[in-house]
Amino acid sequence: MERSTIQRKLIVDSVKSIGHATTKDIISYLSNNGYNVSIGTIYRNLDLLVNENILRRVSINFKEDYYELSEISTHNHFICEKCGKIIDIFNNNSSINEINGNKVISNTTTYYGICKECLENNKDYSN
Ligand SMILES: [Zn+2]
Ligand SMILES: [Zn+2]
Repeated sequence: MERSTIQRKLIVDSVKSIGHATTKDIISYLSNNGYNVSIGTIYRNLDLLVNENILRRVSINFKEDYYELSEISTHNHFICEKCGKIIDIFNNNSSINEINGNKVISNTTTYYGICKECLENNKDYSN
């Protein structure tokens, strides 16, 4: 395999293992696994992989962008403001394909709140 193909595969594999991965997550995952891929190469490949629709970039307010596999069907995200966990929400009713005469191509919503685990560990948040 060509070097660039190997690097792409490493990046896709690390996103697959991490789930929702920031660029920093990918860098530390690869170095923890003994791979030496330069930061520039990672950034360049992430852009290419997003353009080729292999990875999806998830933008979240006040946070770094996350990457996930495009093969996972479109879904919404719930972000825990306490522990920072990102939870995929699949039971969305995002089947709207037209709004006020405009054609909708994609639609994702990000919910912010406190996750179940944090609610259980911290009774303060329960109301
Ligand atoms: Zn939480
Ligand atoms: Zn997701």
